[in-house]
This record gives sequence, structure tokens and C-alpha cells, in this order.
Amino acid sequence: MEGRCHCGAVQVTAPDDAAGVIACHCEDCQRLHGNFFALLAAPASAVRWSGEDHVRWYDSSPSARRAFCDRCGSRLAKQANGSDRVLLSAGLFGPLTGRTIVRHLSKDRHPAWYTVEGA
Ligand SMILES: [Zn+2]
Ligand SMILES: [Zn+2]
Repeated sequence: MEGRCHCGAVQVTAPDDAAGVIACHCEDCQRLHGNFFALLAAPASAVRWSGEDHVRWYDSSPSARRAFCDRCGSRLAKQANGSDRVLLSAGLFGPLTGRTIVRHLSKDRHPAWYTVEGA
């Protein structure tokens, strides 16, 4: 699967069997994404970045780091410290026809203005 940030400076390739779409409703994700974080999970070793000069990683909490494009600000990914799995913003990959949300994280922390159903 081929994805890119909004400005196109960063491109990413993820394996077709990446898990997801998974939705995280926690407060951090709400603040960072302006909404829940819809993500695909894949082994970091299977994810290819190009335009990596524009991928800015920073420590978003004591337990994880997150990445954004330093040109357009698109949120790109999250990775827990010591994890070999990277969580990629699903929106980078376009409509992802055929995929729906298969799992919710921090389901009970979503804001009052939407409901979470299923999984
Ligand atoms: Zn960009
Ligand atoms: Zn979250």
C-alpha cells in the first residue's frame, strides 16, 4: 500500500497485510489528530519511507514517539518505545477501499460528540 502526506514530501509504503483500520480515541490522539487516530499497524522493518528528511520524530510521551511531516504538518505515525511495530495514519493511504474499522482503542475516552459502535 502506497501512502503520502498532504504535501507529498513524505511517501510511505506499508505491507498489504498491515493490521487495521484500528481507531484510537484517547485524549492524546484527539489533540494530535483533531479526531480519533485511525491507524494501520505494521512491523517497522516492513515499512518504507521516502522523503525521510521531512519525517520528524519526537517523544510524544515517556512511552512513545510520534512523527509528522515538517513541511505540511501531516501526522504520520506513532511507535511505542522498544516496539518493532509502527502505527501509521490510515488517512495517508487514501480511501483504503475495502477496509473498515476492525478494532477500537480507548473506546471509553471518546468525546461526547460522537459514538463508538462495534469491535
Ligand atoms: Zn507533507
Ligand atoms: Zn490514542
